[in-house]
Amino acid sequence: MTVLVPLDRVASLPGPAADGAPRPIPLSAPHLTGQEMAALAGVLDSGWVAPAGPAITAFEAAVGDATGFPHVLATASGTAALHLAYRLLDLQPGEEVWAPGFTFIATVAPAVQMGAVPRFLDVAPGSWTLDPDLLRRELRAAAGRGRLPRVVVAADIYGHAADLDAILGACGRWGVPVVSDSAEGLGATLRGRPAGQGALLAVYSFNGNKIVTAGGGGALASHDPVLVARARHLAGHAKDPAPHYQHSTTGHAYGMSSVLAAVGLAQVAALGDRVAARRAVFARYAAALGDLPGLAFMPEAPWGRASRWLTALLVDPARFGADRDDLRRALAAIGAESRPVWKPLPDQPVFHAAPRAGGAVAGALFAQGLCLPSGTGMTPAEQDRVIAAIRGLCLG
Ligand SMILES: *Cc1c(COP(=O)(O)O)cnc(C)c1O
Repeated sequence: MTVLVPLDRVASLPGPAADGAPRPIPLSAPHLTGQEMAALAGVLDSGWVAPAGPAITAFEAAVGDATGFPHVLATASGTAALHLAYRLLDLQPGEEVWAPGFTFIATVAPAVQMGAVPRFLDVAPGSWTLDPDLLRRELRAAAGRGRLPRVVVAADIYGHAADLDAILGACGRWGVPVVSDSAEGLGATLRGRPAGQGALLAVYSFNGNKIVTAGGGGALASHDPVLVARARHLAGHAKDPAPHYQHSTTGHAYGMSSVLAAVGLAQVAALGDRVAARRAVFARYAAALGDLPGLAFMPEAPWGRASRWLTALLVDPARFGADRDDLRRALAAIGAESRPVWKPLPDQPVFHAAPRAGGAVAGALFAQGLCLPSGTGMTPAEQDRVIAAIRGLCLG
C-alpha cells in the first residue's frame, strides 16, 4: 500500500525547508486523523469504488448523524448539491433567487447557470449572515409587487450558522422555500440544533479547506425522503428503471466516489474534535490580541454556537495604525496565509446588474475583514508567530 503514502503526508504540514526556514502556515489545511488509510484500504479491498455501495451508505449515515437529517445524498461537491437543490425546486429562467450578498459565489452560481436572477440582501452585523429583518421587509414589498422569490438561500459563514428560525418565519408567511448553504456550517449549532436544521434542503461541503474533508465532496440533506430520492436519481444521470438506458429528463454525474466517502467517513468521526480545536485557535487569538485597539473579532450571536472554522477579524486602520491589507502582507512576510473576507457578491463584476437590498454591512466587512490562519494542524508556536506579527504591526 506504499502507493497511498503521499496522501497520508497531508496529515502533517510540510516539514521545515532545507535552509531551516520555518514551514509555511496555511489558512486552513486539511487535518487528517490517521484513520483515512484504513478506511481507504477497506474500500479498495471491497472493490466498491463507484458512487454506490457500503462506504457511501455509511458516509451518508454519518453525515445524517452530524447534521440531524434523516435523508442524505453524498455528492461530488457542495456546489453539485446546491445545483441539485435548485433542480428539485424546478427553478426556472427569470425566477428570482434571494441570497445574502456576503458569501462564496457557489451559493448562487448553479441557480444563475439555470437562468435564475440572483437578488442580494445584506447581512446582519451580529452574525455576518442573512439579515432576517431585512428579508421580512423585502418579502412584504415583493409580495406587494407580485414578484416573490422562487427560493431564499441562506448561508452559514466561517462556521457561524444563519438564523434559520427567523428566516423560516419570514419565508413561511409567503410560502417561499428555504435552502441552507451550510457548506461552512458543519459543526456549528443554532439554538442547540445543527446548522442547516429547519431548511427544506441543506447543503454541506467536504472540500479540502473545510472543517472536515473527503478530499472533495458534498452532501444534500433533507427531512423529506422523496426529495432526496429524486436528488439521487438526478445525480446518477436520471436513469429511469428499465433494462436499457431510458431517461425522462437529463441528469448529472454528481455522485460522490466511494474512495472519497471512505476518507470523509474517517473525517466526520473527528468533527467534534475539530470544532473544539478550531474554537481553541479562535480563543487563543482573542486572548492574545483582544487588548489591541482597532481589532474586532467576528461575533457569535446569542442564538448560535460557531465552529470557528475560520477566525475572522475586522481591522480599523484609524485605531490599529495599519489596515487589513498591511496585516495580510505582514503575515505573508512570515509565511502565514491570510485572506480578505468575502467580497460582496453584488460588487462582483459578474453581478454588476443584479438587484440588491442594502449592502452597507457586507461592504464594511469587506473593507476591514481578514481571515487568519485557522488550521488545527497549526502548532501553538506557529500561532504565536502569527500573533507576534500582528502585535508588531500595531505597535509599529
Ligand atoms: C465551500 C463552499 C461551497 C462549495 O462547496 P464545494 O464543495 O467546494 O463545491 C458553497 N458555499 C459556500 C458558502 C462555501 O464556503
